Amino acid sequence: MSLAENLLEIQGKINEACTRSGRNPDSVQIIAVTKYVDIEKTEEVINIGLHHIGENRTQPALEKYDALHGRAVWHFIGSIQSKKVKQIIDKFDYIHSLDRLSLTEEIQRRAEPFGKKIKCFIQVNVSGEESKSGIAPEELFHFVGELRSFSLIEVVGLMTMAPLTEDKEEIRSVFRSLRELRDQLNERQIYPFPIQELSMGMSNDYEIAVEEGATFVRLGSILLKG
Ligand SMILES: *Cc1c(COP(=O)(O)O)cnc(C)c1O
Repeated sequence: MSLAENLLEIQGKINEACTRSGRNPDSVQIIAVTKYVDIEKTEEVINIGLHHIGENRTQPALEKYDALHGRAVWHFIGSIQSKKVKQIIDKFDYIHSLDRLSLTEEIQRRAEPFGKKIKCFIQVNVSGEESKSGIAPEELFHFVGELRSFSLIEVVGLMTMAPLTEDKEEIRSVFRSLRELRDQLNERQIYPFPIQELSMGMSNDYEIAVEEGATFVRLGSILLKG
């Protein structure tokens, strides 16, 4: 199928998931994860109207940014080494993988010359799998409290990855927990501004994520296949 056909099908499924859960489809944004494809194909993605582009590795991300910047909003979705921050800081609009104080300090330090605020998602390891990055849920509140003092870091949401399992209810409970953590952060006013966004759901599980409140789904293979 073509890119446009894939997108139509995905949008249909997102709309249905929104109907099932009483949500407005406009509250769900697709981040097109272009890590599997080249610059040309990424340009096609932008041309059909997908303006959120996600990349998880610095070098390919920078190549695409250089060719296509100004035409999309750039999301860094992969885990990020502190020493790579300076390469992406003035280019990317969102970082989805903030999970430690040392990285926070580096982002603040590198953002200062540009005076630019960077929108961050805190990655939470809800499932507790060893292989996954992200902060443990029980450390989240303390961490968010610490982030208040970083003037160039704007916490906009929480991000998680579903566990590697076929068990849909287990996946659902991870997404639901992320939503509940966000709501608790807001209720207890741990951060000075409301934290609105939930970055969750990939090709295999985005419908469940939307039902559980995802505001950004990160889609690669299902969009770019075929
Ligand atoms: C690759 C990747 C995705 C997209 O994965 P698909 O299963 O291909 O949709 C989403 N989020 C992150 C962090 C990724 O690395």
